Amino acid sequence: MEYSPKKIYNLLEQNGFHLKKMYGQNFIMDENVIHAIIRSSDIKENSLVIEIGPGAGSLTNKLANIASHVLCYEIDNTLTSVLDKVLDGYHNVDIIYQDFLKSNVLNDIKRYSYEHLYVVANLPYYITTPIIMKLIEDKIPVDKIVVMVQKEVGNRFKAKPGTKDYNSLSIFLQYYFDVVKLMDVSKNVFLPKPNVDSIVVAFERKKNKLEVKNEKLFFQLVKDSFVQKRKTLRNNLKNYDLNKIEEILKKYEYDLSVRAEALPIEIFVEVANNLVN
Ligand code: SAM
Repeated sequence: MEYSPKKIYNLLEQNGFHLKKMYGQNFIMDENVIHAIIRSSDIKENSLVIEIGPGAGSLTNKLANIASHVLCYEIDNTLTSVLDKVLDGYHNVDIIYQDFLKSNVLNDIKRYSYEHLYVVANLPYYITTPIIMKLIEDKIPVDKIVVMVQKEVGNRFKAKPGTKDYNSLSIFLQYYFDVVKLMDVSKNVFLPKPNVDSIVVAFERKKNKLEVKNEKLFFQLVKDSFVQKRKTLRNNLKNYDLNKIEEILKKYEYDLSVRAEALPIEIFVEVANNLVN
C-alpha cells in the first residue's frame, strides 16, 4: 500500500508522535513536491539511493519504487513503528538508526551492488552543510545529490562570482560538483511550518574536475581569501607570496586590490598552482 502524506500524518497521530525541533523535523506534507523531487532526481535503474532523515517515510516509499535499493539514516528511533508501517512490503529499503554524521557510509554501502549512487533527501536544516561536507570528505562516490535545503543556504551552495552569496563554500562545492537550483518550495508544505522557504538543489559530479596541483593549499588559499569578505586579497593573504599571486591576477586584469568574491574558481586554481614550487 502506498502512503500519501495525509495517511502518514494520521499514522503519526495514532502513534502519538511528537515532532522534534532539535532534529530539524519538518516533514513534507505535499504529494506534488515529493513527486517533483523524485522526477528531478532522475534516478536511473540499478541505483542505490541514500536518504538522510527519512522521517515518516513519505519520500522513502516513492524512492523505493524506482531505485534498486534505498539506504536510510535516521537519528530518531521513535519513528520506527511509523516507518515499519509505511515501508511494509518494501524489501529494498534498509534503515540505520543513527546519526548520519557519525556513520561509516563507505562501509555501509559495500554490501550493495549498483551502477549509480544518489543522495536524495529533505535535509535537517541544522546540519545541512556538515552533511554535504561529510559526503565530500568521506569520498562517498555519489553521482548526484538532490536535497531540499533552506533557501539562504542553497543560494550560497550555487552562488556565482560577483554575487553576495558567493563564498569559500561555494567554491569548495563547485570544485567537485555542478550545482543548480531545481525548484523553490514554499514553507507552507511542511509540518510544522518552518520560518524560511526552501529550495531543492542538485549537485551533479563534475565530469572534468579542474587540475589542482595541491588541493590542501588550494582550499586553504580560498578560505584565507574570504576570511574577511570586505577586504582585498592584499589584506587577507599577507602570509602568502603576493608577487606570485599578482602575477596571475594581472593576466586577468586584476590586481591585489580585488576582493575574493569577484574571482571565479578557475583564477583561484591558477593562483594556487602558481604557489606550488
Ligand atoms: N524526509 C522526511 C520528510 O521529508 O518528510 C523528513 C525530513 S526532516 C526535514 C529531517 C529528518 O532528518 C528528520 O526525520 C530527523 O529526525 C532526521 N535527522 C536529524 N538529524 C539527523 C542526523 N544527524 N542523522 C540522521 N537523521 C537525522
